[in-house]
Amino acid sequence: MASLRVWIVCSALLLAAGCSAANPAARPAGSGAAASAAPADPQAPQQPKLIDLEAGKAAVPSAGKLASVKKNALKVFYSNPKAGKQVALTFDDGPDNRTTPIILDILKRNHVKATFFLVGSRASAYPDMVKRIIGDGNAIGNHSWSHPDFARVSADTARKEIADTEATLTAIAGYEPSLFRPPYGTLKAEDEPVIAQSRMNVVDWSVDTRDWAGTPAKQILTLVRKELHPGGIILQHCSGGGTGHLANTVEALKILIPELKEEGYTFVTVPELLNLPAALPASSVKVASGNSQG
Ligand SMILES: [Zn+2]
Repeated sequence: MASLRVWIVCSALLLAAGCSAANPAARPAGSGAAASAAPADPQAPQQPKLIDLEAGKAAVPSAGKLASVKKNALKVFYSNPKAGKQVALTFDDGPDNRTTPIILDILKRNHVKATFFLVGSRASAYPDMVKRIIGDGNAIGNHSWSHPDFARVSADTARKEIADTEATLTAIAGYEPSLFRPPYGTLKAEDEPVIAQSRMNVVDWSVDTRDWAGTPAKQILTLVRKELHPGGIILQHCSGGGTGHLANTVEALKILIPELKEEGYTFVTVPELLNLPAALPASSVKVASGNSQG
């Protein structure tokens, strides 16, 4: 248990530092941890579950808490240090019709493409917003149906969360997204065959802005300036958030994009950054249809 705790803290530090030297583009999740159980991380902030998606009350945190995936069992992408001066903006937990369109406007105005990790139930509620995300040239990924902590649900539930979202996104987008980001960055050992069966690539991040927690825009900018390295993946949100409804995210983004461009960064999608296909081969589309209501 002690070694697991240490590993989690070290991993969090590595993530926070965007440590490109010790943080290869893909490394086995759980490396260094002799863990097989899925204990809750007592250091992780206690946040409400996504119960009322529409109310915007339930901030959807991503604590960077990497769970106890079996050693060497699964690759998780955090960045691509070999990508040169590229950066991938990612926005989680959408879509909605409040913050997502504002972020899309900013991206479009700046000729920047980003990656949106979408919650299936919200994609189902706002299919036109999903189409707009894609139509603007952005990439999308699967972020589960109802945003549970995968460490605390059964493998069967995890499978259904992924499959239902996969079916919904595929129906709207016309292709099966190749990316999956588990809520809170958390997976457990029992999820490994589920992920393997889905054939998706698990993508976390190298810079966590903690924007969902209402982190002031100025602080978000300071954090990115400190932690971003070439090939980094920045985590932000396009739905949820606290009382400010991610106004901080919007404010920071308006400054962040021109600033990083000035520094010589090129904005790319996650598939571009990691040299992954945006879509899985059509032959792999095998999700169950019918019940996509979770
Ligand atoms: Zn999330």
